[in-house]
Amino acid sequence: MLTFRKLASVTEGSLVQFVQDWPVLDLLIDSRKLSQPVGTVFFAISGKFNNGHKYMAQLYAQGVRQFVVEEQEASELVSYHPEANFLQVKSSLAALQAVAAWHRQQFKVPVIGITGSNGKTIVKEWLAQLLTPDELVVKSPRSYNSQVGVPLSVWQLNEKHTLAIFEAGISQPGEMEKLQHIIQPTIGIFTNIGSAHNQGFVSVEQKIEEKLKLFTHTDLLFYCADYPQLHEAVQASGIPSFTWSRKSKKANLAISGTTVAGAKTIVVYTYQGQKQRLAIPFTDDASVEDALHCLAVLLYRNLSLADIQNRLDKLHPVAMRLEMKEAINGCYLIDDTYNNDLAGLSIALDLLASQPQRNKRTLILSDLLESGVPEEELYRQVAALVRVKKVDKVLGIGPTIQKHAEAFPGTGTFYSSTAAFLEQFKADAFRNEVILIKGARVFGFEKIVQAFQQKVHGTMLEVNLDALVHNLNFYRSRLTPDTKLMVMVKAFAYGSGSFEVANLLQFHQVDYLAVAYADEGVSLREHGITLPIMVMNPSVDSFSKLRQYSLEPEIYSLELLEQFLLESAGAPASIHLKLDTGMHRLGFTENDFEQLFSMLHQYPQVRVVSIFTHLAGADEALHNDFSTQQIATFRQLSEQVEERLGYKTIRHALNSAGIVRFPEHQLDMVRLGIGLYGVEATGNEQEALQSVSTLKTTVSQVKSINKGETVGYSRKGVAAEAKTIATIAIGYADGYDRRFSNGVGEVLIRGSKAPIIGNVCMDMCMVDVTGLEVKAGDEVIVFGPQLPLVELAQKIGTIPYELLTNVSARVKRVFFAE
Ligand SMILES: *Cc1c(COP(=O)(O)O)cnc(C)c1O
Repeated sequence: MLTFRKLASVTEGSLVQFVQDWPVLDLLIDSRKLSQPVGTVFFAISGKFNNGHKYMAQLYAQGVRQFVVEEQEASELVSYHPEANFLQVKSSLAALQAVAAWHRQQFKVPVIGITGSNGKTIVKEWLAQLLTPDELVVKSPRSYNSQVGVPLSVWQLNEKHTLAIFEAGISQPGEMEKLQHIIQPTIGIFTNIGSAHNQGFVSVEQKIEEKLKLFTHTDLLFYCADYPQLHEAVQASGIPSFTWSRKSKKANLAISGTTVAGAKTIVVYTYQGQKQRLAIPFTDDASVEDALHCLAVLLYRNLSLADIQNRLDKLHPVAMRLEMKEAINGCYLIDDTYNNDLAGLSIALDLLASQPQRNKRTLILSDLLESGVPEEELYRQVAALVRVKKVDKVLGIGPTIQKHAEAFPGTGTFYSSTAAFLEQFKADAFRNEVILIKGARVFGFEKIVQAFQQKVHGTMLEVNLDALVHNLNFYRSRLTPDTKLMVMVKAFAYGSGSFEVANLLQFHQVDYLAVAYADEGVSLREHGITLPIMVMNPSVDSFSKLRQYSLEPEIYSLELLEQFLLESAGAPASIHLKLDTGMHRLGFTENDFEQLFSMLHQYPQVRVVSIFTHLAGADEALHNDFSTQQIATFRQLSEQVEERLGYKTIRHALNSAGIVRFPEHQLDMVRLGIGLYGVEATGNEQEALQSVSTLKTTVSQVKSINKGETVGYSRKGVAAEAKTIATIAIGYADGYDRRFSNGVGEVLIRGSKAPIIGNVCMDMCMVDVTGLEVKAGDEVIVFGPQLPLVELAQKIGTIPYELLTNVSARVKRVFFAE
């Protein structure tokens, strides 16, 4: 067993404080995911966006007694934490990786390592499923394939497992070698190589070269020889290989034909001189390729044809999505369709635990698909997880979990099947709770999700939380380490859903939030948001609310200040001063200063936490001179203010466009807005951001009209020839701008563009689908990655901000992550 002293030798660190040689049972890198302090070692990693050393005091208070720290941080910490072991290393991340590599070496089992541009996760999940009848498999949870994900995946390996399958993903040279040391695969799969230009690499060849480093010591590498650059590189590397190909008869597995038959693809192939056929239960190219990799592995393992077919038949698409949405009776649903195994459950429970908006947590859980672990042991572990993750109520569905009901004393209610649950379902039994729905696919939990759904109105705004995080990190990467980040979540987080976005930002530890009105701040507080919040437009009658909810007003005029000071009546308060440097909207000017300081000096308990200004034209290069002039004025005025106040404040000026355009003027903080939501306002770096929101609706009806007939109000849509039109369920009351009428706007249906015909109505509009195959119920994309907001805004002479914030409240928001 690994103990702390051994950990020191494995990581070549030095024990700066040693209390006792405790066992090392769990590796923790994210303080929020602590489940069991005893046996946990916290690795304080200082990354680009955060520094783990900040959370050590809190973890110590929670009972953690084993810490790995980096040199520069160590000495001070020790004296405050007398009862803990401290190991000092050069890099905590490298130490984590070293521990995982050491752990891997303790096991002799075959390990399959998977890399490639696409399909890693699916091939991994499918292989695990296909090999489970013969093996006890451990695999990476979800897409844990990064420099931290891989060590945590490998750490799960234990003496019961007979096969491990881990995926590895890299974004720049140098990374794969590290992952190779940790995974030490004995068998490799290289799924494919995308030709897309990759930021971290100079060429596709370099990318292949780098990825191949995962396989330097494998006994056998499976890959598709139809990628010429990949094929060449593998052959040159001398790594023993098993190839499959649709083109070359020389491949170990030669595919001579694939034909779609209904929902299946019939594969004809030759292996070891024998021609055979098999059916794969998918028809799309990506799934067929992923399944062919799996087929190659199964053939290599000498499974019989009947056995292979039998196992392939049971393959199902890997759901890699998690959705969050409002539900009945003030409940909130987390619908997690990832595979239902123990590692996946643990991750989902972390997410449940990080939802502060309702104070009750419910888990609806099916039987787990965990091979090999004895049932009793498995459900004991589930029950332990449920306890440490503070779930209040467990509804177990399925014969196996029901059988182990006694593992969940006091918290559990059990049902033999989904049907049995639905039969007894009473909506009233659920109120103001967060409900995690986690079921293996065969249990058909989508029916349960439906039972919890609110009104189903076909129009929805899908918000991609992964894209939000990507964009957040893009802007963070532009900041100097000491610059604080305020994020604007005004106007319902630019239409994207204020609470969910705020909660994500809280999780990712931004420094400040800002809203326009007190009510928005109150609502965030009521949903459990504890970050500091600035209110930009506080009204006098909201001042008591501000105090009650610890919201901090922006003060922009002498009148407002006077009223605030009177109302505050000597109570301590934090305020933000807005200076007008040329926007001419809100803010103090130099003329106000004498009065401003004399008022503030009378109320020393009212503290100015920040001073800021807003740029009028940061998005346009045309106004660069004006912007820099504004910043110069601000620097000078804010200095004056700080001098007169006699203390330092947080000074900030840049919005999203400013962050990109004026990196030298970050001051103490920046205010990120539209960029988080996927629009790069200067237009110079749009490709670096990901599209966050997709507005979707459905086709209500399709009809044919004759030449000369008209469509919609005022008979504006005139058919110059016979047409097929579709009525779609979105109108200006949903936020679909009426200026899109008469061919200005277009939507996407089954990947084809369909222009608006006639005027946009209140709740609907009509689109021209002549020549397209469209039927009632089809999904319609109004905007999204394929129909960028920036282009739509241009068509009607407005800005993306307006389109985003106009999506009306009646449009349901669905949040998802992959
Ligand atoms: C909305 C707003 C921002 C954010 O602007 P973006 O262009 O969306 O980045 C920053 N500061 C103030 C004062 C704002 O009102």
